[in-house]
Amino acid sequence: MSASLLLTDIPFTIDVPLLAKAVHLPADPAENRADWADLEALAARAQAAGRPKAMYRPGRITARRADAVVVDGGIELCSHTLASVVGAEERLWFFCATCGTEVLALAEGLDIFQQYWLEEIKMVMLRAANAHLAMTIRKEHGLHRLSGMGPGSGDAGVWDISELAKVFQALGRETTDAAGVVLTESMLMLPNKTSAGVHFPLDRNFATCQLCHRDKCPNRRAQFDHDLWNATMTGRDAGGGADGSQGVQPACSSPA
Ligand code: SF4
Repeated sequence: MSASLLLTDIPFTIDVPLLAKAVHLPADPAENRADWADLEALAARAQAAGRPKAMYRPGRITARRADAVVVDGGIELCSHTLASVVGAEERLWFFCATCGTEVLALAEGLDIFQQYWLEEIKMVMLRAANAHLAMTIRKEHGLHRLSGMGPGSGDAGVWDISELAKVFQALGRETTDAAGVVLTESMLMLPNKTSAGVHFPLDRNFATCQLCHRDKCPNRRAQFDHDLWNATMTGRDAGGGADGSQGVQPACSSPA
């Protein structure tokens, strides 16, 4: 079994006007100078303290069924959708990306609105970690396109969230501990802005958002696709996506 690799030097940029838009402050700072000043100060502190991280390890699909793929001869990933989407591809990479623990201390003393700002800042870091990880895998393996899925993302029947335990086990405790990431018994990933799953080469666009009925998700990356849903989900539960853009909820485990 290959060792997991941890990426710690991940660049990110907090764009304050974009952040202000995301947290619904007026576009013109003159309309609310006090909040803009506080937002700029918090963004500057997060930019200085933040250390987003990502980890990954390669695996090889050694067996496949309609409802599962088996990796490295023993890790059974149970998802009709995953088995259908990876097709004949043999390569995949277990991954986890996170905003990192360093930024969590900034929550101290913030009011409820500022805590919401900090959650948005953590999402910026998580997106940067996911993007950096995908770029790293593509470069290392000369891949033009890479897609991914995470347990718990998309509708409930896409890939059960309990399978996060297999992803964390595949990555190994030593690496997840080094990144400061924890998976609780109730399948909550901490820090709350963390995503995990598998990446795999794919020559077409795919995102589990296409299989997610959740309305008004601020992190949606693709429109719901009825045809794809019917092709991969008919007869299964569609109880709604595992979201994580707000408050203390976990980040949707779908790669950003
Ligand atoms: S990011 Fe939002 S829309 Fe996409 S799978 Fe996750 S919860 Fe659904």
